[in-house]
Amino acid sequence: MSHSTIRLFEANVYLCEFDARVLTCKPAGDLYAVILDQTVFYPEGGGQPADQGELAGQQVINVREKPEGLVHILSEPLVEGAMVHGAIDWTTRFARMQHHSGEHIVSGLVKQRFGLDNVGFHMGSEVVTMDFNGVLDDTMLEEVERLANQVIYHNVPVEAAYPLESDLANLDYRSKKALEGNIRIVTIPGADMCACCGTHVRHTGEIGIIRLVKAEKYKGGSRVTLLCGLKAWQDARTQALRVQAIASGLSTAADTVVQAVQRLNEELTATKKQNQALKGQVWALETARVVAIKGWVVRFEDDLTADDLRQCCQIFGQKTGRAIILSAKINDSREEVPSEYRYAMFSTNEDLREMAKFFNQHFSGKGGGSATLVQGTIQGTKREIEEFFSELSK
Ligand SMILES: [Zn+2]
Repeated sequence: MSHSTIRLFEANVYLCEFDARVLTCKPAGDLYAVILDQTVFYPEGGGQPADQGELAGQQVINVREKPEGLVHILSEPLVEGAMVHGAIDWTTRFARMQHHSGEHIVSGLVKQRFGLDNVGFHMGSEVVTMDFNGVLDDTMLEEVERLANQVIYHNVPVEAAYPLESDLANLDYRSKKALEGNIRIVTIPGADMCACCGTHVRHTGEIGIIRLVKAEKYKGGSRVTLLCGLKAWQDARTQALRVQAIASGLSTAADTVVQAVQRLNEELTATKKQNQALKGQVWALETARVVAIKGWVVRFEDDLTADDLRQCCQIFGQKTGRAIILSAKINDSREEVPSEYRYAMFSTNEDLREMAKFFNQHFSGKGGGSATLVQGTIQGTKREIEEFFSELSK
């Protein structure tokens, strides 16, 4: 608690402008630390960042809570004893009030319904996250989100008070740590009671919407991303436009986009399978006119997958006894230009492992596999590789 600065946001959270007297102004590194007799600037604390805005025509860099008062950080000094005018960036502050109140409703409901505690709260400029000490699955999130929005529709008052210590002992409120002194309790009837020094909307209806947009596993619990008010609406709109763009790309309506994507995936899988079968047929036909170099079939193919390489070298190997298929990226396999090749070699009856080791060493490559099928990568030119195999059995 600060003693020498009146926190105007406590009595009226909707106050955006104010006049105040400069009590002290002290250098703080390259900057200045200014304490006023009163302020509407909320300092960073409780997961909520400091307010942004102007003081005496200067942008306020930060606001911190210190034992001597609320310290405003500025780049230029102010005259001690002077009267100054200040104003906070209301759009940003109101969004934070919506999110902070929204966070309390969600945390209170998660505690009520599932017994989990909020163990972390972070309000960034784009996303607001809350951490829980247990896993929240989709069904639980859906329930909490629905109940939280009902708290908005009921438009209940958000009350902040400093109960007497004797009364405090009988209250069942949420708190992240053991607190001392004057404790501010924020109550949202039916949803939550929590020790908090942050800024809140006065009625839950002002939050507009609460959306729990995602939950991720985090430190054995869940990290939930929360959007409220205008930000929730903006995000919903962006998502809808994305779905619309996907739907029009698939020549369908937004409400049938999921089935259209499923159908597309099925078609793609079938096409890949067909393509694989056709490649196999082409290679099988080519085995009729293949020429082996010293018992080896050495073939260069463009851009084959690992599966393709394996299938291709088995087809040729079965015909001639031994085969190696090499594949560089398209347009990368020229006679004299060194390329990186993926390869697969196959033999019907011979242990290839020693030979593959020698091949890898020769072309700074790596690879491995079974006795009759080895796969890997090497560096070299097409000519060098062909020469290597023609030298082999001399
Ligand atoms: Zn709070």
